[in-house]
Amino acid sequence: MKKYDVIIIGAGIAGLYAAMNIPKSKKVLVVCKDIPWECNTFYAQGGIVTALDENDISSHVEDTMVAGAYHNDPEAVEIMSRTSLETTKDIIDRGMAFDTDEEGHLLFTKEAAHSADRIIHAGGDATGRYMHHFMMLQNQHKLQPNVLVYDLLIENGKCFGVKALVKYQPETFLADDVIIASGGIGSLYAYNTNSRTVSSDIHGICVEKGIELADMEMMQFHPTVFVKTPFARKLLLTEALRGEGAHVVSEDGRRFLFDYDERGELASRDIVSRAIFDHKRQTGQETYLDFSMFEADWFANRFPNITRTFAGLGYEFPKDRVPISPAFHYAVGGIKSDLNGCVEGIEGLYVIGEAASTGVHGANRLASNSLLEGMVFAKRAVTHLLNKDQNNNLITPIFDKVYRNIVHHEKDRVYKHKLRKIMWDEVGIIRTKKGLLEAKNCIYDMKNREIGRLLELRLNTASAIVEAALKRKKSLGTHYIEK
Ligand SMILES: Cc1cc2nc3c(=O)[nH]c(=O)nc-3n(C[C@H](O)[C@H](O)[C@H](O)COP(=O)(O)OP(=O)(O)OC[C@H]3O[C@@H](n4cnc5c(N)ncnc54)[C@H](O)[C@@H]3O)c2cc1C
Repeated sequence: MKKYDVIIIGAGIAGLYAAMNIPKSKKVLVVCKDIPWECNTFYAQGGIVTALDENDISSHVEDTMVAGAYHNDPEAVEIMSRTSLETTKDIIDRGMAFDTDEEGHLLFTKEAAHSADRIIHAGGDATGRYMHHFMMLQNQHKLQPNVLVYDLLIENGKCFGVKALVKYQPETFLADDVIIASGGIGSLYAYNTNSRTVSSDIHGICVEKGIELADMEMMQFHPTVFVKTPFARKLLLTEALRGEGAHVVSEDGRRFLFDYDERGELASRDIVSRAIFDHKRQTGQETYLDFSMFEADWFANRFPNITRTFAGLGYEFPKDRVPISPAFHYAVGGIKSDLNGCVEGIEGLYVIGEAASTGVHGANRLASNSLLEGMVFAKRAVTHLLNKDQNNNLITPIFDKVYRNIVHHEKDRVYKHKLRKIMWDEVGIIRTKKGLLEAKNCIYDMKNREIGRLLELRLNTASAIVEAALKRKKSLGTHYIEK
């Protein structure tokens, strides 16, 4: 049986930045489910927020709180914004190359609901890919891909490690500390922009073990997604496009968002998502993203990946407009953590990144705050972990529970599809009490079938979302409930 000082579940920005901050002298193992670049970090496009200077902190905090409908934890938001000055400098000093002008000055852009240009980016619209590549090179610890964690070893309020499938064989990994950095919950929804590896397994384990999840009704939908592809992961058209001036238009070219909010394309994501959803419901018409106001060379240079990807699908940008729909994008809620990433009541267990609920995002995430949150709280969790007293006298209990069907059972595919559909239809952009109760019954029914472990974990997380949505009777942030 392998024993480590620290196991990190997940190799996105949160997991890798945590690893980068743990000294080489520690025995650390980073695991991820698939190939390392199959994660949401890799797909992040627009950029990462950084407070511009001390003076910008209060404005960044206010923008974050407004987007979050003041449901945020103000202390967490202040910490995130203030620490951005340190974390941004840290990765630039280590060699991360963000986009600059010809004189080498960082280029700053704006996204929806930010009151200043404070977002830095890399590779034009490939920030996540560049940051992920950079952090993979910086990480000095062992990274083992194709490891699927399906249980946390917890007894008497202490986490002793994980159980995982490695090449389809169950293995136990022991550790003094376990850091959950397993991302969000994208695979629960029919239309989503997330990596296929992001399927809420660890959230499901936490539900099973009575570990608190928070704000799970707060699920963010991105307004501008190209969903007309056969693949589970739908193609995002970054917020930065609207930030730079792209228009959302109806079939006859009208900018109908102003009927819903005076900020039009620059209103927050939930408002724009609901407006597009409602416009389709009212008129039956498609909605488009229109780039015709941009000059062709500038567009290709600023958004090279989008230009290339959509050229492969037959679109010529900026000339062609593209049909869009909202899709699930980001889990605002998650496994509850304190300001140091600690999971309350479980010694040796941390949670960071999109998997965590630190309270920074409140009821809705402000664009480009999530890569930043991943770094800031990874750093804080590692600082806490390295400075605490370790109890080396604990005897590791024997964890001998055996799971018969871990990966799947015969009918799991059908149930997974059914789950994704009901989550999209009833637990999506616009919810009703009736629809939520239908979803609750459907999930309960599937849970009582003979199913595999991984589906069971997804169903646990889906239940937590539905229960939280049922509890919140009034609309707030991303949670919108109709009578
Ligand atoms: C298309 C897209 C564009 C985005 N653009 C931006 C942007 O411009 N700016 C911004 O701030 N945010 C953006 N976001 C959000 C941001 O990318 C994510 O919130 C962030 O990258 C999450 O990082 P993470 O490290 O928490 O998780 P991820 O990067 O998703 O990594 C999760 C890791 O956990 C592993 N894992 C999961 N389950 C298990 C398991 N059971 N066992 C073992 N390993 C497991 C996965 O394999 C993966 O390595 C975007 C998201 C998407 C999908």
